[in-house]
Amino acid sequence: MRSILMNIALGVTLGTAMLTPALAQQDFSKVEITTTKLSDTLYMLMGAGGNIGVSAGADGVYLIDDQYAPLSEKIMAAVKAISDKPVKYVVNTHWHGDHTGGNENFGKAGATIIAHEAVRARMAKGGELAAFKMAVPPAAAGALPVITFDDMIALHQNGETARVIHVDPAHTDGDAIIHWPSANVIHTGDTFVNGVFPFVDTSSGGKLDGIIKSADTVLALADDKTKIIPGHGPLATRADLVRFRAMVVTVRERVTAAKAAGKTAEEWAASKPLADLDADWGKGFLPVDKFTQIVFDAI
Ligand SMILES: [Zn+2]
Repeated sequence: MRSILMNIALGVTLGTAMLTPALAQQDFSKVEITTTKLSDTLYMLMGAGGNIGVSAGADGVYLIDDQYAPLSEKIMAAVKAISDKPVKYVVNTHWHGDHTGGNENFGKAGATIIAHEAVRARMAKGGELAAFKMAVPPAAAGALPVITFDDMIALHQNGETARVIHVDPAHTDGDAIIHWPSANVIHTGDTFVNGVFPFVDTSSGGKLDGIIKSADTVLALADDKTKIIPGHGPLATRADLVRFRAMVVTVRERVTAAKAAGKTAEEWAASKPLADLDADWGKGFLPVDKFTQIVFDAI
């Protein structure tokens, strides 16, 4: 039962392309897209996969991430309910299939896909999620970002600026966070997941230190009124991110101490070193045992 649940959860988290059994488990027909208004122009959509940011206004619509391909029609309908203007751009926060799965559909419908250089490179080449022994095939040409950036890119639409900022390798090596200063909203991609252990995808260049550093970047931009769209989980506040960062720092201290004491990955895992964090953080897509195993190699 546990492994079936985990497969379903991983399918949701990591993408359609890589987990055929999970795809078979996941019934997208049951997924509903919910819309939360964050400002005059900004919205968060939740369905299955990464949380979507929407900017809609006089210039048109753009999205941050687009979940799974089978959900594109539902996402388009949810966007239509906000604005009848076309989706002009999709910004990807990173390359995983639960954030980029709709790229090809939105591209066909007229959107220009924008992402960090590493996102395009990894999507084009395909790869492996070593932590789950999953192969990811190369993405279709029409799914690839056509505008890429290195450190940052800005979108000036709908009367405000969105700063798309590449952070040091954290969840992957192509992570971007999106900051709308005038609306006081930030989308963190999967550098922050609200209320659950983060996945550090080491086979995509992810590093636990980067999760902490990225949290620091977001915290420096945020105040108590900032609305934070996490990669997964409910809309967050600065306090949620502070709590998450503290947990990750605790984990880093324990891994560092275990390595300094010469423990092997097996000895580390066998000592159940994160058991006390399970109740608060282990109920999401990464059970504590899997997270324990992943973080040892993420430092
Ligand atoms: Zn991800």
